[in-house]
Amino acid sequence: MLEILIADDDKDAQNLLGLYINKLGFKVHYASNGIDALNKINELNISIALLDWMMPGMSGIEITQKIRESKIDRYVYIIMVTGKSEKDDTIEALHNGVDDYIVKPFTFQELKVRIFAAERIIKLENKLKNAYNKLYNESIHDVLTGVLNRKALMEKIEDYNNKNKSLGIIMIDIDNFKVINDTYGHLVGDQILKEFSAIISNTIRKSDFVGRYGGEEFLAVIPDLDVIEVKTIAERIRKNIESETFHIGSLSLKITASLGVYVLTEKTKIEDAIKLADDALYEAKKSGKNKVIVY
Ligand code: GH3
Ligand code: MG
Ligand code: MG
Repeated sequence: MLEILIADDDKDAQNLLGLYINKLGFKVHYASNGIDALNKINELNISIALLDWMMPGMSGIEITQKIRESKIDRYVYIIMVTGKSEKDDTIEALHNGVDDYIVKPFTFQELKVRIFAAERIIKLENKLKNAYNKLYNESIHDVLTGVLNRKALMEKIEDYNNKNKSLGIIMIDIDNFKVINDTYGHLVGDQILKEFSAIISNTIRKSDFVGRYGGEEFLAVIPDLDVIEVKTIAERIRKNIESETFHIGSLSLKITASLGVYVLTEKTKIEDAIKLADDALYEAKKSGKNKVIVY
């Protein structure tokens, strides 16, 4: 249900508007002065504001200016409700960011159509916002596993590297995955990849993150822990994978993974750090697989 603010220092005007708008089925909030109105718009989920022009504390125009300048992340549709009826007043209000304008006295019918016009805009905005969020989410996640895709992963590493003292990089690669694909088919392989990435996600903390670096290679990134601690986490990931039985259809499969660890500090470049984690992973593969090697 959309929430509407009625801001008017005149109690009678407030009550009348409230009565009308309640009838239209919106949730109504009230403010009797400009400061209170601005605070409520900022703090509550108000999408339509009916502002009186002249109010103690702050005028409807000033509130509008403040809202338009602010970084508030939703559109607030502002309707000025006022006794001012000169053409210049309308121009001034619209010029300052007001969306619509109702001159007192007004009829219920007039108020209703203007509120419905506002509702159309707000609903359209919500629809666009949802579509944007959906596309954005799809653009940063790997379709199959749902973890970060490579591009988003690299950007996040870059971002974290600028903000954190150190980043533990754990490169994780499934052992003999080709055999799984060759024996049971690609679809079974896909299921394994899904569950495999879920085990990694569930093993690390909220402050860590994981992404799909390549086909069956994942990178877990662990900020601000020393090499011993990062190694412990890598070891935990390895154990959790080893101890899991993957149930796919009627199959029960066991897999293992090899992990290479490098802890990136200010001195190392990200690409170099990933290369070093990869070198450690190569070492783990060469020396028998199902193990963690720290560079
Ligand atoms: P190693 O222990 O040395 O890592 O051997 P491996 O067989 O795991 O490694 P290799 O690099 O030879 O093979 C990786 C396989 O991963 C081959 C490729 O087809 C498979 N793969 C990569 N991406 C996907 C995917 O999205 N789905 C499936 N099912 N398989 C994938
Ligand atoms: Mg592999
Ligand atoms: Mg590989």
